[in-house]
Amino acid sequence: MSNSNRLRIAIQKGGRLSKDCQDLLKQLGVKLNLREQRLIAHSTNMPIDVLRVRDDDIPGLVMDGVCDLGIVGENVLVEVQAERQRQGVPSEVTKLSKLDFGYCRLALAWPSELGKQDKSWFEGKRIATTYPEILTQYLKREGINASTVMLTGSVEVAPRAGLADAICDLVSTGATLEANGLMQGDTILESNACLIQNKDLQDADKLALINKLMPRLRGVRQAKE
Ligand code: ATP
Ligand code: ZN
Repeated sequence: MSNSNRLRIAIQKGGRLSKDCQDLLKQLGVKLNLREQRLIAHSTNMPIDVLRVRDDDIPGLVMDGVCDLGIVGENVLVEVQAERQRQGVPSEVTKLSKLDFGYCRLALAWPSELGKQDKSWFEGKRIATTYPEILTQYLKREGINASTVMLTGSVEVAPRAGLADAICDLVSTGATLEANGLMQGDTILESNACLIQNKDLQDADKLALINKLMPRLRGVRQAKE
C-alpha cells in the first residue's frame, strides 16, 4: 500500500500518452513542475505526486497499491491484467473513466503479397506480438491453433525478418503497416487511454480529492464534445 498521504498518480514518462496526460492534469487544475527529468513530480497546489514511468508498469503499480491512480491504454491494462491473473497476483482495478486520447486498435496483419486471407490461414502460423495474453485469448476464442512470438518492439518487421508469419500489433492510421508491406486484418481489441484507481483505496482524504477531481474531468470531456 502507498504510505504517502499524497495522492500518487502514475503516468507514462515518455511516449504517445505523455503529452495528453500532462495536458489533462493541467486542465484538472493540478500544477506540476515537469521540467525536471525526475521520476516523481510534486504538485505545488494539491497533495498530489505524479510518478513518471514506462506505460507497462502502470497497471501493476496501481494493482499493488504503490500508486493510487494511473493513466494507461486499455491494451496494456488488459494484457497486464491477464498476465497477473495467471500468476495469481492482484489484478483488479477500479476503472474511473475512459479518456478521449490514445485511441488505437490491436489488429492482425500479414504480408500484403499474400493478398486477402481469412481466419483459417492463421492455422499453424507464428504470430509476433507484444500482447501474447490478448492474442492467445483471441486465438482460443476463435479456435485457431497458432503460436505467438513475443517481441517488445519492431513487431512490424518480424515477417520480413523471418521471425514470424504474421503480426498482431497496435495500429492507429495503418501507415506503419503499409510502410512495412503488411495488410491489416481483424481488429482484436479497440483501446483508449483510461483512468484507473487502486480498488482497495480507503484513505478518506485521497478519496475526497478524487471526488473533487472527477467532476472536473467530466467537465473537460464535455467541453471537448
Ligand atoms: P514505454 O516506453 O512507456 O513502454 P511504449 O513504446 O510501450 O512506451 P508508446 O508507443 O508510447 O508505448 O504507446 C503508448 C500507448 O499509446 C499504447 O500502449 C497505446 O495505448 C497508445 N497508442 C495510441 N496510438 C498508438 C499507435 N499507433 N501505436 C502504438 N500505441 C498507440
Ligand atoms: Zn510500453
